[in-house]
Amino acid sequence: MKGEKSLFTRIIEGEIPSFKIYENEYVYSFLDINPASYGHTLVVPKEPASSLHELSPESASELGIALAKISKSILEVTGVNSYNVIQNNGSEAGQTVFHVHFHIIPKYPHSTHQLTWDSVKLGSEDASELARKISMGIV
Ligand code: 5GP
Repeated sequence: MKGEKSLFTRIIEGEIPSFKIYENEYVYSFLDINPASYGHTLVVPKEPASSLHELSPESASELGIALAKISKSILEVTGVNSYNVIQNNGSEAGQTVFHVHFHIIPKYPHSTHQLTWDSVKLGSEDASELARKISMGIV
Protein backbone atom coordinates (compact mmCIF):
# COMPACT_ATOMS: atom_id res chain seq x y z
CA MET A 1 0.00 0.00 0.00
CA LYS A 2 3.07 2.23 0.33
CA GLY A 3 3.12 5.00 -2.28
CA GLU A 4 -0.39 4.53 -3.59
CA LYS A 5 -3.69 5.42 -2.00
CA SER A 6 -5.73 2.58 -0.54
CA LEU A 7 -9.27 1.98 -1.72
CA PHE A 8 -10.57 3.37 1.57
CA THR A 9 -8.44 6.53 1.33
CA ARG A 10 -9.99 7.07 -2.10
CA ILE A 11 -13.44 6.63 -0.52
CA ILE A 12 -12.56 9.00 2.37
CA GLU A 13 -11.37 11.61 -0.14
CA GLY A 14 -14.58 11.26 -2.17
CA GLU A 15 -12.83 9.91 -5.26
CA ILE A 16 -14.98 6.76 -4.97
CA PRO A 17 -18.59 7.24 -3.82
CA SER A 18 -19.87 5.78 -0.57
CA PHE A 19 -22.96 5.92 1.60
CA LYS A 20 -21.42 7.97 4.39
CA ILE A 21 -22.56 7.45 7.97
CA TYR A 22 -20.11 9.47 10.05
CA GLU A 23 -16.98 11.57 9.72
CA ASN A 24 -14.70 13.51 12.04
CA GLU A 25 -11.02 14.51 11.98
CA TYR A 26 -9.82 10.90 12.52
CA VAL A 27 -12.58 8.57 11.41
CA TYR A 28 -14.80 7.88 8.38
CA SER A 29 -17.70 5.42 8.35
CA PHE A 30 -19.84 4.14 5.49
CA LEU A 31 -22.04 1.22 4.42
CA ASP A 32 -20.28 -1.93 3.21
CA ILE A 33 -20.82 -2.46 -0.53
CA ASN A 34 -21.48 -6.21 -0.02
CA PRO A 35 -23.30 -6.32 3.31
CA ALA A 36 -23.39 -9.52 5.36
CA SER A 37 -26.66 -8.17 6.78
CA TYR A 38 -28.84 -5.06 6.57
CA GLY A 39 -26.90 -2.25 8.23
CA HIS A 40 -23.39 -3.74 7.78
CA THR A 41 -21.14 -0.74 8.30
CA LEU A 42 -17.41 -0.09 8.00
CA VAL A 43 -15.54 2.21 10.39
CA VAL A 44 -12.17 3.35 9.09
CA PRO A 45 -9.37 5.58 10.42
CA LYS A 46 -8.29 8.38 8.10
CA GLU A 47 -4.73 7.38 8.95
CA PRO A 48 -3.80 4.93 6.16
CA ALA A 49 -2.37 2.11 8.32
CA SER A 50 -2.80 -1.42 7.02
CA SER A 51 -3.14 -3.22 10.39
CA LEU A 52 -4.54 -2.25 13.78
CA HIS A 53 -1.21 -2.44 15.65
CA GLU A 54 0.29 0.19 13.31
CA LEU A 55 -2.22 2.89 14.28
CA SER A 56 -1.34 6.00 16.26
CA PRO A 57 -2.88 6.21 19.76
CA GLU A 58 -5.06 9.12 18.57
CA SER A 59 -6.57 7.15 15.69
CA ALA A 60 -6.99 4.04 17.84
CA SER A 61 -8.83 5.88 20.59
CA GLU A 62 -11.01 7.86 18.18
CA LEU A 63 -11.96 4.60 16.45
CA GLY A 64 -13.07 3.12 19.76
CA ILE A 65 -15.25 6.14 20.50
CA ALA A 66 -16.76 6.15 17.00
CA LEU A 67 -17.43 2.39 17.06
CA ALA A 68 -19.55 2.67 20.19
CA LYS A 69 -21.52 5.68 18.90
CA ILE A 70 -22.14 4.19 15.44
CA SER A 71 -23.10 0.79 16.88
CA LYS A 72 -25.70 2.46 19.09
CA SER A 73 -27.30 4.21 16.11
CA ILE A 74 -27.26 1.01 14.02
CA LEU A 75 -29.07 -0.83 16.84
CA GLU A 76 -31.70 1.89 17.07
CA VAL A 77 -32.28 2.05 13.31
CA THR A 78 -32.31 -1.69 12.58
CA GLY A 79 -34.01 -2.82 15.78
CA VAL A 80 -31.52 -5.63 16.41
CA ASN A 81 -30.24 -6.43 19.89
CA SER A 82 -27.18 -8.34 18.72
CA TYR A 83 -24.30 -7.46 16.45
CA ASN A 84 -20.73 -8.46 15.71
CA VAL A 85 -17.74 -6.16 15.45
CA ILE A 86 -15.10 -7.81 13.27
CA GLN A 87 -11.66 -6.56 12.35
CA ASN A 88 -9.30 -8.54 10.10
CA ASN A 89 -5.53 -7.98 9.92
CA GLY A 90 -3.54 -9.73 7.21
CA SER A 91 -4.70 -11.85 4.28
CA GLU A 92 -4.58 -15.08 6.30
CA ALA A 93 -7.00 -13.47 8.74
CA GLY A 94 -9.35 -12.62 5.87
CA GLN A 95 -8.34 -9.01 5.23
CA THR A 96 -8.95 -8.01 1.63
CA VAL A 97 -8.62 -4.21 1.85
CA PHE A 98 -5.30 -3.26 3.43
CA HIS A 99 -6.42 -0.16 5.27
CA VAL A 100 -7.60 -0.73 8.86
CA HIS A 101 -11.37 -1.14 9.14
CA PHE A 102 -13.90 -2.47 11.60
CA HIS A 103 -17.06 -4.21 10.42
CA ILE A 104 -20.23 -3.62 12.46
CA ILE A 105 -22.63 -6.38 11.42
CA PRO A 106 -26.16 -6.50 12.81
CA LYS A 107 -27.23 -10.06 13.70
CA TYR A 108 -30.87 -10.80 12.83
CA PRO A 109 -32.64 -14.07 13.66
CA HIS A 110 -32.27 -15.01 9.96
CA SER A 111 -28.62 -13.86 9.62
CA THR A 112 -26.28 -16.55 8.31
CA HIS A 113 -22.92 -15.03 9.23
CA GLN A 114 -21.06 -16.96 11.93
CA LEU A 115 -17.95 -16.55 14.03
CA THR A 116 -16.86 -19.91 15.36
CA TRP A 117 -13.57 -21.69 16.01
CA ASP A 118 -12.20 -24.88 17.48
CA SER A 119 -10.44 -24.11 20.75
CA VAL A 120 -6.82 -25.09 21.44
CA LYS A 121 -5.49 -26.43 24.73
CA LEU A 122 -3.49 -24.07 26.96
CA GLY A 123 -2.02 -25.32 30.22
CA SER A 124 -1.74 -22.95 33.17
CA GLU A 125 2.10 -22.86 33.02
CA ASP A 126 2.04 -21.96 29.32
CA ALA A 127 -0.75 -19.45 29.95
CA SER A 128 1.19 -17.81 32.73
CA GLU A 129 4.37 -17.53 30.59
CA LEU A 130 2.41 -16.30 27.57
CA ALA A 131 0.55 -13.64 29.55
CA ARG A 132 3.82 -12.48 31.11
CA LYS A 133 5.56 -12.18 27.72
CA ILE A 134 2.68 -10.34 26.04
CA SER A 135 2.29 -7.95 28.94
CA MET A 136 6.06 -7.19 28.84
CA GLY A 137 5.76 -6.23 25.15
CA ILE A 138 3.11 -3.57 25.70
CA VAL A 139 4.58 -0.09 25.44
P1 5GP B 1 -12.07 -7.27 4.80
O1 5GP B 1 -12.33 -8.58 4.10
O2 5GP B 1 -10.80 -6.61 4.31
O3 5GP B 1 -12.16 -7.35 6.29
O4 5GP B 1 -13.30 -6.36 4.38
C1 5GP B 1 -13.31 -5.48 3.30
C2 5GP B 1 -14.73 -5.01 3.13
O5 5GP B 1 -14.74 -3.91 2.27
C3 5GP B 1 -15.65 -6.08 2.51
O6 5GP B 1 -16.73 -6.35 3.40
C4 5GP B 1 -16.12 -5.43 1.21
O7 5GP B 1 -17.47 -5.71 0.90
C5 5GP B 1 -15.90 -3.94 1.47
N1 5GP B 1 -15.62 -3.19 0.27
C6 5GP B 1 -14.72 -3.50 -0.70
N2 5GP B 1 -14.72 -2.57 -1.66
C7 5GP B 1 -15.63 -1.63 -1.29
C8 5GP B 1 -16.09 -0.42 -1.90
O8 5GP B 1 -15.63 0.01 -2.97
N3 5GP B 1 -17.05 0.28 -1.23
C9 5GP B 1 -17.57 -0.16 -0.04
N4 5GP B 1 -18.51 0.59 0.51
N5 5GP B 1 -17.16 -1.30 0.56
C10 5GP B 1 -16.21 -2.02 -0.07
